Amino acid sequence: MIKTRSDEYCEEAGRLIPGGVNSPVRAFMSVHDRPFFVKRAKGSRLYDVDGNAFIDYVASWGAIILGHADEGLIAAVTEALKDGTSYGACHPYEIELARLITEAFPSIDLLRLTTSGTEATMSALRLARGYTGKNGVIKFRGCYHGHVDSLLVKAGSGLATFGIPDSAGVPADLAKHTCVAEFNRLDTVERIMEGSDDIACVIVEPIMGNMGVILPEESFLTGLEALCRKRHVLLIFDEVISGFRVAFGGAQHIYGVDPDLTCLGKIIGGGFPIGAFGGKRHVMERLAPLGDVYQAGTLSGNPVAVRAGLHVLSALKRACGEVYPRLEKAGQSLSKEMTFIAGRHGIPYTVNSTTGMFTGFFSETPVRDYDSAAASDRGLYERFFKAMLDEGVFFAPSQFEASFVTLALDQAEIERTVAACDRVFRTIGSARQ
Ligand SMILES: *Cc1c(COP(=O)(O)O)cnc(C)c1O
Repeated sequence: MIKTRSDEYCEEAGRLIPGGVNSPVRAFMSVHDRPFFVKRAKGSRLYDVDGNAFIDYVASWGAIILGHADEGLIAAVTEALKDGTSYGACHPYEIELARLITEAFPSIDLLRLTTSGTEATMSALRLARGYTGKNGVIKFRGCYHGHVDSLLVKAGSGLATFGIPDSAGVPADLAKHTCVAEFNRLDTVERIMEGSDDIACVIVEPIMGNMGVILPEESFLTGLEALCRKRHVLLIFDEVISGFRVAFGGAQHIYGVDPDLTCLGKIIGGGFPIGAFGGKRHVMERLAPLGDVYQAGTLSGNPVAVRAGLHVLSALKRACGEVYPRLEKAGQSLSKEMTFIAGRHGIPYTVNSTTGMFTGFFSETPVRDYDSAAASDRGLYERFFKAMLDEGVFFAPSQFEASFVTLALDQAEIERTVAACDRVFRTIGSARQ
């Protein structure tokens, strides 16, 4: 694969931007490679500055669900742009988006928009602390909730990838309020709750996406809900990835849980910067200007992002009964084929998959929590990643990420991916013997 121009950009970017990237995982460091630079994207493909095309399973880390440069979205955004890019004042589309989201998520009575998922989780946390008058937060090892100080403790993906347990610059005085439990292990949550009466909330990715995809086991989430109710601790679902991806009503719809607060992002902005948090009326009414918990944003409810989000969510809602089964089928056929091929070539491989997302772990054992995910063979992933890129297929540049399916992915592209995977696994398999 020719990468001349990407390499030039990479050099230049490194002189101006830390690591040449505006978000760490984009640097390809964990796979010991250098990133390609995107020229444009269309449907399920990315095209780089050297003229290479890739079938895209990163999909802007799950923000893209209709496919890149969707015609309807372009039309909606073009119309929006003509009306101005930001007002710092109210507009009717905010109400429409809030209505669509609250109708999809019965647990959300009131909703506020932000500019990123990080802002949504940060604000939800402050609100939970303000509402309960308590400081403690329980999170799960491997779950990532954005780069919020209190939540940069044992977070997944970027951090797991780089082996940085915590970030420098997070005061120990703050981090001490964050308690870390194990995903799928209710006993670890119960133990923390028993040892402290200062817990404000539990925050969880109901379907983990940031340590690769890890599914909640039977009754883990409902058990968590019951524990929180019993102890008067708020339950926050971080559905920044899973919201509108695994189902129109998110993971909480699938697992039948009624969290106090929910965080959203990614898909709801159609590729524009956005986030949202919402939940029970009595909690949300503590937000300024009604209440005493301050939260704000110059670009919150940005009219262009909101109209892009409206387009995406309306399209998903209109075709709900058709799109989610299609996303599920695409993910399942990829997972099944890749598992089968890996077996044939003697490669340790375990796939966790749900609607619209999956992760293939280079591991023989089932992956159900941080430790079992972290035991995956990163060296094999690196070889897989590079060889697939050469084949024109872009998976995330880290073992600990989800692969995302968009509605633009067609059967021929799935078959191309599987055929490429067959060649790559064969090479890796024979090198291992
Ligand atoms: C991406 C992500 C965030 C942070 O969202 P940003 O828009 O990147 O700030 C928070 N929580 C989860 C689960 C995410 O995947």
